[in-house]
Amino acid sequence: MTDRVIPSEDELRQRLTPLQYEVTQNAGTERAFTGMYWDSKDEGTYHCIVCDEPLFHSDTKYDSGSGWPSFYAAIEDGKVETSVDRSWGMVRTEARCANCGAHLGHVFPDGPQPTGERYCMNSASLNHKPAATD
Ligand SMILES: [Zn+2]
Repeated sequence: MTDRVIPSEDELRQRLTPLQYEVTQNAGTERAFTGMYWDSKDEGTYHCIVCDEPLFHSDTKYDSGSGWPSFYAAIEDGKVETSVDRSWGMVRTEARCANCGAHLGHVFPDGPQPTGERYCMNSASLNHKPAATD
Protein backbone atom coordinates (compact mmCIF):
# COMPACT_ATOMS: atom_id res chain seq x y z
CA MET A 1 0.00 0.00 0.00
CA THR A 2 1.06 3.54 -0.57
CA ASP A 3 0.03 6.93 0.74
CA ARG A 4 1.24 8.89 -2.26
CA VAL A 5 -1.16 11.65 -3.19
CA ILE A 6 -2.65 11.55 -6.65
CA PRO A 7 -2.63 15.06 -8.15
CA SER A 8 -5.85 16.72 -9.29
CA GLU A 9 -6.67 17.22 -12.97
CA ASP A 10 -5.97 20.96 -12.68
CA GLU A 11 -2.58 20.35 -11.14
CA LEU A 12 -1.72 17.83 -13.81
CA ARG A 13 -2.66 20.19 -16.60
CA GLN A 14 -0.32 22.78 -15.13
CA ARG A 15 2.56 20.48 -14.29
CA LEU A 16 2.64 18.10 -17.25
CA THR A 17 3.43 18.94 -20.84
CA PRO A 18 0.48 18.54 -23.23
CA LEU A 19 2.01 15.30 -24.49
CA GLN A 20 2.56 13.92 -20.99
CA TYR A 21 -1.04 14.75 -20.17
CA GLU A 22 -2.41 13.22 -23.35
CA VAL A 23 -0.44 9.99 -22.89
CA THR A 24 -1.06 9.41 -19.19
CA GLN A 25 -4.66 10.66 -18.91
CA ASN A 26 -6.07 9.87 -22.37
CA ALA A 27 -4.03 6.76 -23.19
CA GLY A 28 -2.20 8.53 -25.98
CA THR A 29 0.99 7.33 -27.63
CA GLU A 30 4.05 9.40 -28.39
CA ARG A 31 5.58 8.99 -31.83
CA ALA A 32 8.25 6.30 -32.04
CA PHE A 33 11.87 7.51 -31.76
CA THR A 34 10.76 10.91 -30.40
CA GLY A 35 10.68 10.31 -26.64
CA MET A 36 13.41 11.12 -24.15
CA TYR A 37 14.20 7.57 -23.14
CA TRP A 38 13.84 5.18 -26.06
CA ASP A 39 17.61 4.82 -26.52
CA SER A 40 18.72 5.88 -23.06
CA LYS A 41 21.09 3.51 -21.27
CA ASP A 42 21.42 5.59 -18.12
CA GLU A 43 21.27 3.63 -14.91
CA GLY A 44 18.61 4.32 -12.37
CA THR A 45 14.90 4.03 -11.88
CA TYR A 46 11.97 5.19 -13.99
CA HIS A 47 9.17 6.77 -12.01
CA CYS A 48 5.57 7.53 -12.89
CA ILE A 49 5.45 11.10 -14.25
CA VAL A 50 2.12 11.64 -12.48
CA CYS A 51 2.56 10.23 -8.96
CA ASP A 52 6.34 9.56 -8.76
CA GLU A 53 5.92 5.85 -7.95
CA PRO A 54 8.99 3.84 -9.09
CA LEU A 55 7.88 1.56 -11.96
CA PHE A 56 10.94 0.26 -13.81
CA HIS A 57 14.66 -0.17 -13.28
CA SER A 58 17.29 0.41 -15.93
CA ASP A 59 18.54 -3.17 -15.35
CA THR A 60 15.48 -4.51 -17.16
CA LYS A 61 15.57 -1.96 -19.99
CA TYR A 62 16.66 -3.27 -23.36
CA ASP A 63 16.83 -2.14 -26.96
CA SER A 64 13.71 -3.51 -28.64
CA GLY A 65 14.18 -1.50 -31.82
CA SER A 66 10.62 -0.19 -31.48
CA GLY A 67 11.48 3.45 -30.80
CA TRP A 68 9.87 3.36 -27.37
CA PRO A 69 11.57 2.59 -24.06
CA SER A 70 11.19 -1.14 -23.48
CA PHE A 71 11.58 -3.19 -20.34
CA TYR A 72 11.21 -6.92 -19.79
CA ALA A 73 9.83 -6.53 -16.26
CA ALA A 74 8.35 -4.01 -13.87
CA ILE A 75 10.45 -2.96 -10.89
CA GLU A 76 8.24 -5.03 -8.55
CA ASP A 77 5.15 -7.19 -8.87
CA GLY A 78 2.03 -5.09 -8.55
CA LYS A 79 3.57 -1.76 -9.52
CA VAL A 80 2.35 -1.92 -13.10
CA GLU A 81 -1.25 -2.97 -13.66
CA THR A 82 -2.34 -4.59 -16.89
CA SER A 83 -5.72 -4.97 -18.54
CA VAL A 84 -7.12 -5.92 -21.92
CA ASP A 85 -7.38 -3.00 -24.33
CA ARG A 86 -9.69 -3.50 -27.34
CA SER A 87 -9.34 -0.03 -28.84
CA TRP A 88 -8.36 0.59 -32.46
CA GLY A 89 -9.64 -2.84 -33.51
CA MET A 90 -6.78 -4.61 -31.78
CA VAL A 91 -6.58 -6.71 -28.66
CA ARG A 92 -3.62 -5.53 -26.64
CA THR A 93 -2.54 -5.52 -23.03
CA GLU A 94 -2.56 -2.02 -21.62
CA ALA A 95 -0.12 -1.08 -18.84
CA ARG A 96 -1.03 1.49 -16.20
CA CYS A 97 0.57 2.77 -13.03
CA ALA A 98 -1.06 0.69 -10.29
CA ASN A 99 -0.94 3.63 -7.90
CA CYS A 100 -2.54 6.45 -9.90
CA GLY A 101 -3.89 4.77 -13.04
CA ALA A 102 -1.71 6.75 -15.45
CA HIS A 103 -1.48 5.11 -18.87
CA LEU A 104 2.07 3.93 -19.53
CA GLY A 105 1.95 1.91 -22.72
CA HIS A 106 1.33 -1.70 -23.70
CA VAL A 107 2.79 -5.12 -22.88
CA PHE A 108 3.57 -7.59 -25.66
CA PRO A 109 4.53 -11.27 -25.35
CA ASP A 110 7.66 -10.98 -27.52
CA GLY A 111 10.21 -9.78 -24.99
CA PRO A 112 13.50 -11.37 -23.97
CA GLN A 113 14.00 -13.91 -21.21
CA PRO A 114 13.60 -14.36 -18.31
CA THR A 115 10.05 -13.00 -18.62
CA GLY A 116 9.38 -13.08 -22.37
CA GLU A 117 7.44 -9.85 -21.95
CA ARG A 118 8.00 -6.48 -23.58
CA TYR A 119 6.77 -3.48 -21.63
CA CYS A 120 6.55 -0.97 -24.46
CA MET A 121 6.32 2.32 -22.62
CA ASN A 122 5.98 6.00 -23.50
CA SER A 123 8.84 8.24 -22.39
CA ALA A 124 6.15 10.83 -21.66
CA SER A 125 4.80 8.65 -18.84
CA LEU A 126 8.15 8.24 -17.13
CA ASN A 127 10.67 10.29 -15.19
CA HIS A 128 14.18 8.86 -14.98
CA LYS A 129 16.10 9.27 -11.76
CA PRO A 130 19.81 8.43 -11.67
CA ALA A 131 21.02 5.54 -9.56
CA ALA A 132 21.75 6.06 -5.85
CA THR A 133 19.40 8.95 -5.30
CA ASP A 134 15.88 8.41 -4.13
ZN1 LIG B 1 1.39 6.84 -11.10
